[in-house]
Amino acid sequence: LLQIAIPLNFVGFIYREIRQGLADIEAMFAVLAVPAEIEDKPGAPALAIGSGAIRFEDVVFHYDPDRPILKGISFEVPAGNTVAIVGPSGAGKSTISRLLFRFYDVTGGRVTIDGQDVRDVTQESLRQAIGMVPQDTVLFNDTIAYNIRYGRPDAADEDVRAAARMAQIDSFIETLPKGYASEVGERGLKLSGGEKQRVAIARTILKAPPILILDEATSALDTHTEREIQSALDQVSRNRTTVVIAHRLSTVVNADQILVLQAGVIAERGTHAELLAKGGLYASMWSRQREADEAEERLRAAREAD
Ligand code: ATP
Repeated sequence: LLQIAIPLNFVGFIYREIRQGLADIEAMFAVLAVPAEIEDKPGAPALAIGSGAIRFEDVVFHYDPDRPILKGISFEVPAGNTVAIVGPSGAGKSTISRLLFRFYDVTGGRVTIDGQDVRDVTQESLRQAIGMVPQDTVLFNDTIAYNIRYGRPDAADEDVRAAARMAQIDSFIETLPKGYASEVGERGLKLSGGEKQRVAIARTILKAPPILILDEATSALDTHTEREIQSALDQVSRNRTTVVIAHRLSTVVNADQILVLQAGVIAERGTHAELLAKGGLYASMWSRQREADEAEERLRAAREAD
């Protein structure tokens, strides 16, 4: 038994260390998901970022040659616009955000930002230009201030506060005995999923990237939290080119364009109203989601009445 217990313990130790060490989602992607062969071209220049217009031109992609994931995807996100990507689980929504970050290279076609192929510029400059609000934020074992300031290490206290206010987490922080100096993470204060996400939003507000990727939470948050997060997200995506990876459909209603991904192609595209009127795939996903949400709300109400 001891022979098994020691290695298991060790694995647990390594796991915890890795988890902490990679608290930043971008670092996490960089270490775990980037195949070693993604390298900058010799002498590659930094991305000359202007207003942050994105184009996918006939993008083909697979992780595994016998399983195509994207089979020719074309779309454009004009600078400052918001595009939402929806579709069944496993359709390849998150994959699109990984290609934008160049965590993988496309198999065919190209991805450009302000006219520059992402393969032609340094990865560092690419990651500097893109902010990501992940669905599950892992915080550093440090203070709340540190966790927010991570978005821009030289930010002044006042800027950290302003970012927290915009992310609607400031008043919560003020209620803590140590305020911004409160320790969070595994060994500190445990924050709820919604609170952690707002810390991540504050961090991204501070980083102020021209391009933003929002990975919407898969799990249902309660209506109140969801509304708070939504208004924080609206703040951060204002005047920025935004790609929303919508695992649920709650944030897509106001997007300039919705792409419905299915079986590796864009099956439908348009605004919420246009797609509802069309009565196709999106319309049926929408009504199914509505029914599921209502059922959940009823369950919650019943539980609270008990
Ligand atoms: P969900 O809404 O469930 O998160 P998604 O649309 O975001 O799904 P992706 O994460 O883009 O889906 O995954 C698309 C497909 O690619 C899935 O079938 C998944 O199993 C596969 N896939 C994802 N990452 C990898 C990987 N690193 N290696 C091999 N296959 C992968």
